[in-house]
Amino acid sequence: MSDVAIDARRRALALATRGFMPAVEGDALWAAALEATAAVPAAPMLEVGSYCGRSTIWLGDVAERRDVVLFAVDHHRGSEENQAGWEHHDDTVVDDRVGMMDTLPFFRAAIHDAGVEGCVVAIVGRSPVVAANWNTPLSLLFIDGGHGELPARQDYTGWTPHVAVGGTLAIHDVFPDPADGGRPPYEQIFRPALESGRFELRSSTGSLRVLTRVG
Ligand code: SAH
Ligand code: MG
Repeated sequence: MSDVAIDARRRALALATRGFMPAVEGDALWAAALEATAAVPAAPMLEVGSYCGRSTIWLGDVAERRDVVLFAVDHHRGSEENQAGWEHHDDTVVDDRVGMMDTLPFFRAAIHDAGVEGCVVAIVGRSPVVAANWNTPLSLLFIDGGHGELPARQDYTGWTPHVAVGGTLAIHDVFPDPADGGRPPYEQIFRPALESGRFELRSSTGSLRVLTRVG
């Protein structure tokens, strides 16, 4: 890691928060966000897929430093792969009253404890519904929402046009080799972004891909 890094207390909180962001990838996401918010000053960042707020803390630290807003979009009901019986299920995040997952209380606690409530704005709803009503250019778009084919494609079509030219598209869980993980983030987001000619690859860390919008 370079000498410029996320606040150490916040990093420890992120790592103690339920979620799926490995430390090195969180640090790379943080660095990408710091660059993105310098390249496109004053524009907000947006994350699709916050879960319990783990990645949100890395991005929230940058939002505070740059005095910009981070919008954190999630319906907080979990992706297909988070539901009971699936690999990434955690039954401590189920709301027994409704019999569905509810990660919003965990997210809220994490954002409070990290001290980033002032710059992180949660948007609780379905990603395509929010995207269809969105109209603000973004310095950074981080896509880590539903990893099925349809949600991934909808996140690509709904959100990537909102990345400002010079801004950053970060995608999590990109696995070019199917042996390493599910394909939709690679096939429905990463490849189309590069093939569109609008984005160029800037860096890769684990399954995180950081692209720059060039046109
Ligand atoms: N970034 C998180 C992990 C996200 S897990 C971390 O660092 O740990 C994926 C999240 O995407 C889940 O919380 C799920 O509720 C959300 N999600 C999946 N499909 C969605 C959709 N269509 N709209 C909104 N949120 C969605
Ligand atoms: Mg992920």
